[in-house]
Amino acid sequence: GQWWTSLADEPQPADLRTDEAHSARMYDYYLGGKDNFPADRQAAEQVLATYPNARNVARHNRAFMIRATRFLVGDRGIRQFLDIGTGIPTSPNLHEVAQGIAPDTRVVYADNDPIVLAHARALLTSSPAGRTAYLDADLRDPALILDSPELTETLDLTRPVALSLISIFPFIPDSDSPLDILRTLIDALPSGSYLALTHATADFDPAFEASASAYRSRRIPNQLRSRAEVERLFLDLELLSPGVDLVHRWLPDPAHAGLADADVSVYGGIALKA
Ligand code: SAH
Repeated sequence: GQWWTSLADEPQPADLRTDEAHSARMYDYYLGGKDNFPADRQAAEQVLATYPNARNVARHNRAFMIRATRFLVGDRGIRQFLDIGTGIPTSPNLHEVAQGIAPDTRVVYADNDPIVLAHARALLTSSPAGRTAYLDADLRDPALILDSPELTETLDLTRPVALSLISIFPFIPDSDSPLDILRTLIDALPSGSYLALTHATADFDPAFEASASAYRSRRIPNQLRSRAEVERLFLDLELLSPGVDLVHRWLPDPAHAGLADADVSVYGGIALKA
């Protein structure tokens, strides 16, 4: 056909709103990724100016996701994951880690940022024995996530699931009722399921608080939480040892020797639904 007709028939690209900073793209910038724009870099540089550790926090956080996933698949026999707040695909992604151990693992990814949707193909590279699905959805509407065909056609909610909430709760301030969101998600999972969660904190370096303001001044909700506040996010689940602690104390790696707490500044925890 004529070129203008074929262009009109193409799906519209997602509106990435590159004029404003987005948390997924700022996080990508901390990690050294390429899927970010000048507004994201400017916001991220403002964070780094007051809190140069933001890069380390992102790296330690991502490394915990990998160790926790290996542990849940390898040691706990988990074969299903629901990962909300997935972020821009970054190698290795959760399904690659899990399916590297158990190729039949099924993973549902969800994020509400259009740039993650735009790159979702990189998350849909499941091993033939397993399955991955991507859902464009907001954590603040957990019922919609649980009822989505992407989830119900991929996960069997009568069998244990690991709920992976890695560095998303700073974007869910108390005004969004984080405990209610968690209750809804956990109630939908059978016993034997796990929650793996990480959360940035200013407990070890008050300068980190300035980063939350850098987000909020751009109308990106952001709240750092104390250890006690992060513990509450685990509701009545059974926290595995060492409980809510800095991520380098979780499933430690020899590479962590000599790390200062303030350099890590992100809590992690893994808990069991008994
Ligand atoms: N889990 C990944 C990415 C963390 S960055 C990792 O730890 O490496 C935080 C991600 O949460 C971003 O991709 C952002 O778009 C997403 N996010 C923030 N608020 C959200 C919400 N309300 N619903 C769904 N995703 C959200």
